Amino acid sequence: MEMASERSIRFSDIRGLFPEDQWDVGYLSKEQLKICAYSPIKAKAQEYGADYTNNIHFFSIVNSIVLVRHSPDSWDYTLYREAHEILVRSGLRDWLPIYTNFKEAAILAGLGVRAKNSLVYSYRFGFDMKICVVGFFDEIVDPPVPERVELGYWEMCDGCSDCRLACPVGAIHNEKEPFWLDSSKCDDFIGFGDHPRIPSIKKFWHKYVHPEVPQEEVDRMKSCMDLERQLSFDANGYTLDPQTGVLKDGKPVPVPFCRECQVQPRCSKWNGEYPYDAE
Ligand code: SF4
Ligand code: SF4
Repeated sequence: MEMASERSIRFSDIRGLFPEDQWDVGYLSKEQLKICAYSPIKAKAQEYGADYTNNIHFFSIVNSIVLVRHSPDSWDYTLYREAHEILVRSGLRDWLPIYTNFKEAAILAGLGVRAKNSLVYSYRFGFDMKICVVGFFDEIVDPPVPERVELGYWEMCDGCSDCRLACPVGAIHNEKEPFWLDSSKCDDFIGFGDHPRIPSIKKFWHKYVHPEVPQEEVDRMKSCMDLERQLSFDANGYTLDPQTGVLKDGKPVPVPFCRECQVQPRCSKWNGEYPYDAE
């Protein structure tokens, strides 16, 4: 086993900080972090940490860990804060949160595989998870050798169209390659959907934050182009934290929205019936 020097840290020491029932932890070399940084993302959201996206020159390329946090709630990015607090408590030095292409990071670290719904399927938590990356300036020694790193699509998706058929707005295009997701259709539905069963951010906002807004006006709200102007979380104790999501009296609260493409029986424990009301 390689011995840790003053300027190095054992992967197992970092791994031990994160309870296994809630976290999966992988490793990225400097070169792998570069690959993530050079893999464009479609849009920045819930940005947290040094920005390693959509550029070619970065502050410093370091070896990193990839953290996959179990999280069944739709809009819950408290993992950033949790990971930060765990690392601060540990006394480890010289690390920084990194915002990069998290899907690529999880795949290269061997923690998950790309699925035909456009998401990454975590080997430990399925689709019920969120991902973040933390860089270390010291060398991480004894990094794990992933059991498998799958760069193609998940074999479970072969011959399956369930997520495409379940999408209420036809945003998933996976009947023939190139597979792609119409992200604006998806985002508009997540933000402003009026489906009788599937919740949206707009419905939550109207029910809890601004119930005084007339229903006719709410019905006219359809597009994410106006999300921030139209759906302000600024009343009844609600605020919006751009990193972690919606807060009520300063504490994160889940906001349910569409997960139809992640809860199909073939690849999810939810058996096609996600309990939105429980969020
Ligand atoms: S429903 Fe699940 S298994 Fe089927 S294609 Fe979609 S992600 Fe893959
Ligand atoms: S989250 Fe909903 S709207 Fe978006 S792709 Fe999945 S099923 Fe379609």
